[in-house]
Amino acid sequence: MTLPAADTVVTYPDGDLASTGTVLHVEPLADGRSAVILDRTAFHPVDPVWPDQPADTGTLTVDGRAVTVVGAVVGATDGTTLHVGDAPVRTGTDGWSFVVCHLVEEATGVEPGAAASVEVDAETRRALSTGHTACHLASLALDEALAGLWTKEVPLDGRGQPAFDQLAIASSRILPDGSVDEYRIGKSLRKKGFTAAELPAALAAVTDAANARLDGWAQAGAALAISIERDGDGLGERRRWRAELPDGVVEIPCGGTHLRSLADVATIRVELAYDAEAASLTMRTSAVRVSG
Ligand SMILES: [Zn+2]
Repeated sequence: MTLPAADTVVTYPDGDLASTGTVLHVEPLADGRSAVILDRTAFHPVDPVWPDQPADTGTLTVDGRAVTVVGAVVGATDGTTLHVGDAPVRTGTDGWSFVVCHLVEEATGVEPGAAASVEVDAETRRALSTGHTACHLASLALDEALAGLWTKEVPLDGRGQPAFDQLAIASSRILPDGSVDEYRIGKSLRKKGFTAAELPAALAAVTDAANARLDGWAQAGAALAISIERDGDGLGERRRWRAELPDGVVEIPCGGTHLRSLADVATIRVELAYDAEAASLTMRTSAVRVSG
């Protein structure tokens, strides 16, 4: 079997929930499942290098037979080996092709060359897109709310605020309608000028300031337009989340899926918890969607 020589064309950045394509390769896996690779797909895979947003759920249909996709991961190939979910290189590295691996329990009858279609579960996608959009907005609101705790000049975020999120992020997990971000507030951040000692006393005011900013953005609703900008349609191309905030346009590198605006979002709130001993700040973000 020949391995794909090009990236999978991905349509999920535009919000697509269904796509048609051709089976390029079927890789049997050690656990008995198979990884099915198509030339194009609407299925969002988890990227093991930065696994913030979980994979879509849904089905793959080949020759009229629908199979459940039990997982989807980024695969990488240099033409000789296919690494399924354990690529030795970052997504986008030159000389490699990056492919969406649709994981299925049973791939009998799924052959290269066959026409295939995929359908993504719309509600799961919507909930994860809401969570991911809320996560990015919360990170910007947090940067601004923490601005007073910096004593030195540091890189700024897209709104001109000290880029706490970018400098301190340890992990980010997108949940249905929310997210959990873990920040490391260690020696290196303090050396950069972050006054961690003042954080416990400031935490309530910081939380209120972030939530007030998020309230304003939620009220902007449909006027707060969001899109994914990209240089090409391959999985390995760089993509950026772009939001038209009331005070200007902001872009953040992002491989996930997002809402198109805040029209269907009623509120976004954050809760902050600081553990000085563990040198970690946890931000839990939750969005409430407009019902109906
Ligand atoms: Zn993102």
